Amino acid sequence: MDQSAVCAGCHRNITDRFLLRVTGGLWHEECVRCAACGDALTSSCFLRDSKLYCKRDYYDQEPHTLQAAAHTISEQFSAK
Ligand SMILES: [Zn+2]
Ligand SMILES: [Zn+2]
Repeated sequence: MDQSAVCAGCHRNITDRFLLRVTGGLWHEECVRCAACGDALTSSCFLRDSKLYCKRDYYDQEPHTLQAAAHTISEQFSAK
């Protein structure tokens, strides 16, 4: 009932009404952004070493695994 969601990016509780589900974890909306350029990620993202990257920055370093690495970002409201 009082189970709180913890952000997979910053590991702090998510108290926002609005959160994002990415790579099987929950994230603050503000934490879902590229670790390289800081762009907010909206529909898809790429995960490496527990950090999210945009397509452009991920492709720079991992061009051959781009297809397999794409994650979908889905929006949801917390139960609170
Ligand atoms: Zn966070
Ligand atoms: Zn980027």
